[in-house]
Amino acid sequence: MRRSGLTGKTQVLGIIGHPVEHSLSPPMQNAALAELSIDAVYVPFAVEPAALETAIAGLWSLGIQGFNVTIPHKQTVITTLTSVTDISQAVGAVNTVWRTDEGWAGTNTDVTGFIAPLQQSDRDWSQARVVVLGNGGAARAVVAGCITLGCPEIWLVGRSADKLQHFVHSWQDSPLQPSLRTCLMTELDAVLPATTLLVNTTPVGMHPQVNATPVTLAQIALLPPDAIAYDLIYTPSPTQFLQLAAQRGLTTFDGTEMLVQQGAAALQIWTQQSPPISLMRQTLRSQLGLS
Ligand code: NAP
Repeated sequence: MRRSGLTGKTQVLGIIGHPVEHSLSPPMQNAALAELSIDAVYVPFAVEPAALETAIAGLWSLGIQGFNVTIPHKQTVITTLTSVTDISQAVGAVNTVWRTDEGWAGTNTDVTGFIAPLQQSDRDWSQARVVVLGNGGAARAVVAGCITLGCPEIWLVGRSADKLQHFVHSWQDSPLQPSLRTCLMTELDAVLPATTLLVNTTPVGMHPQVNATPVTLAQIALLPPDAIAYDLIYTPSPTQFLQLAAQRGLTTFDGTEMLVQQGAAALQIWTQQSPPISLMRQTLRSQLGLS
């Protein structure tokens, strides 16, 4: 149902980032709020890094109900919050904040978003080997998600041995304790044959390098026929990696579903209502020019 207009009672949600004007969250969240007939609006707020603390205090004073956090504030916002969930502490990043009587609370719904399509598949995750390509910020959410699913074997694959070791050590004092193994991109072939889930968290294949792929067709052929290929990239959708995986007959998931599901999880926190996921998916896909 469409809202007729803003009133004096309209509540405000939003997203902080810099830049924020390309965010796909405002159309997706506003469509969902309208569908739920909730008198609220979701607004983009461009916040420069140096202004983060002042902006967070200002959002509180203005009575903002909650907000998403995007680049470059996902890590730095943590110090401005009163409490954060174990999962966001483990990931080291917050993307969703809500108002409590004590102050701002934060969590990381990228983790929820990542695992949502996997939870709908009928795999026995307690036996799964997961191979994660990349060791940046998104890889942290993926590793936390795989721990949440109960995966016993998580391989982290990167191009720098030092960065891989740094990633592993960074979990030492974390509320989540992954059993991480590492290998270099050049050694990837050895771990692929027994892999249940192969996840690309690198930007390789992202627009405009749409013909690039983090793994070759020959490497995809090493995967078991029932493996899942998951690419966090959502432009293009599907990526070259997922097209090759689909040609091989593998199950594929792309980054649009993670984006929809992280937004749905945030909306549920703010409104305590079941989010209209298909409408959110349809709105996002139309924003991306997808069918
Ligand atoms: P990031 O922190 O910059 O990490 C990128 C990782 O990719 C690093 O480990 C980097 O390796 C590796 N990498 C970069 N170029 C590479 C190359 N040519 N070959 C091999 N590895 C390479 O970025 P991020 O925040 O994790 O985001 C990564 C991707 O995930 C982006 O495409 C982003 O759009 C996507 N993402 C999607 C969602 C979603 O909701 N769908 C959410 C978050 C992120 P080095 O460490 O060696 O540089």
